[in-house]
Amino acid sequence: MSNSASPQNSQALWIALDAMPVGVSWATLHDQKIVFMNRMCTEIFGYVVEDFTDISSWVQKYPNPEERELAWTRWREYFEHPDGDEFPIEPMELSITCKDGTVKTVIHSGIVLPDAGWALATFIDITKRKQNELLLRQAEERARQNEAIYRTLLEHSQDMVLLISLDGLRRDVSPAVEQITGWTKEEYLKLPIRSLVYPDDMALLEEATRAVKMGMLSSCYRGRIMHKDGSYRWVEALLQTYDDPVTKQPAGYTVTMDDISEQKRQEEMLTSLNRKLSEDATHDALTGLPNRRLFNEAFAREMQQPLRNSSQIALLMLDIDRFKQYNDSYGHLAGDECLKAVSSTLAKSLRKEMDVVARFGGEEFVILLPATDCNGAEMVANNILQAIRSLEIPHIGSSRGILTLSIGVACGEVTSTADPEQLLSQADTALYHSKESGRDRYSIFQGGPEMST
Ligand code: GH3
Ligand code: MG
Ligand code: MG
Repeated sequence: MSNSASPQNSQALWIALDAMPVGVSWATLHDQKIVFMNRMCTEIFGYVVEDFTDISSWVQKYPNPEERELAWTRWREYFEHPDGDEFPIEPMELSITCKDGTVKTVIHSGIVLPDAGWALATFIDITKRKQNELLLRQAEERARQNEAIYRTLLEHSQDMVLLISLDGLRRDVSPAVEQITGWTKEEYLKLPIRSLVYPDDMALLEEATRAVKMGMLSSCYRGRIMHKDGSYRWVEALLQTYDDPVTKQPAGYTVTMDDISEQKRQEEMLTSLNRKLSEDATHDALTGLPNRRLFNEAFAREMQQPLRNSSQIALLMLDIDRFKQYNDSYGHLAGDECLKAVSSTLAKSLRKEMDVVARFGGEEFVILLPATDCNGAEMVANNILQAIRSLEIPHIGSSRGILTLSIGVACGEVTSTADPEQLLSQADTALYHSKESGRDRYSIFQGGPEMST
């Protein structure tokens, strides 16, 4: 545009300015009047040229005092140096209150032509862009805050959270890794997974991993992983798939791991306590032998089913001789030790796996010999008498000077009609006979009051 061109003498110029896609206004320098506003200017701000008496009434529309001040300073320069060279109005971002009261943000620039006596100002509406930028910044800030929240949650979680992509690559892990495994995050991510999992538990982990890779939403692994100190810790891990936020396709899975060593230890303690309790119910605390209850069960079982190729069964009742006196002479504690020694000798005297020895009560024992006839029972009885004598436990109350015991033997057939109680009472009768006839011996009940010793 040449300096000599003037809007007053160029109709074509007005038309051209009106068609421009940016807001354009035109002011004369000598009287500081706005003489022209193009269509876009009106479109942006809602004003027409008649709304302004002069430049100052336009600058009133700047709601930001600093911008207003800056604009005034500039304008004063233009007006106070009307003879200067032409110079551009440097682009500046400006807020302007529109006719409807809304505020728009524009890029304002232009040119001052002192020679020609006028100035041209342009306005590009960037309100939308600014709003979008603001929204974007707010969204970014929210995302940053959210991430900070999730990070904080993750970093303070007692659980170890691991991020694994579908190809099995461990991408990230929460700081709790150090608490649970002893390794730092960096160390842990470098270690091959196979070296961390207890070898026997590897198959379980592979199964859990396969499940999530095959499309299950979650799966669980309960097993041992290695601690930096070389020990293995029990962990419970929940594997859950996650989708790529953009493609919405499965991208990997998270593993939330918790140290359950203490829980496991308590479980094991409970199991062993239960085992011990059930053992207490079936075994004698002093000698460790099966108790009368367990014996009765075993006896009833044997009497119901003839064993293999034999239907014979033998029962031995045993009672320590003059044990009351033993206690009186050596004390109750020594008596207990004696009972233990006798028990283990009895247990060792049995040859067959199905033989059962039990503490029947006090210093009485009972031995069940399935698939054994009278001859076999006699041999066992003899061996036991000898084995007890061989212990050579001093007993001043005994005629031999050592601890002995007496045995009653009963032999019978296992039939569906056989009565276990009867066999027991026969053995008891035979035992009584052994006591009566001098102790330290066995007697066999043989179908009647006769006894052989
Ligand atoms: P006998 O030769 O006639 O069998 O005489 P005995 O003294 O052995 O007979 P009795 O049945 O009168 O006495 C059994 C004694 O066994 C009584 C009790 O003091 C003792 N006894 C029973 N159970 C235990 C025990 O668990 N520990 C100890 N130290 N002694 C026990
Ligand atoms: Mg007794
Ligand atoms: Mg006795």
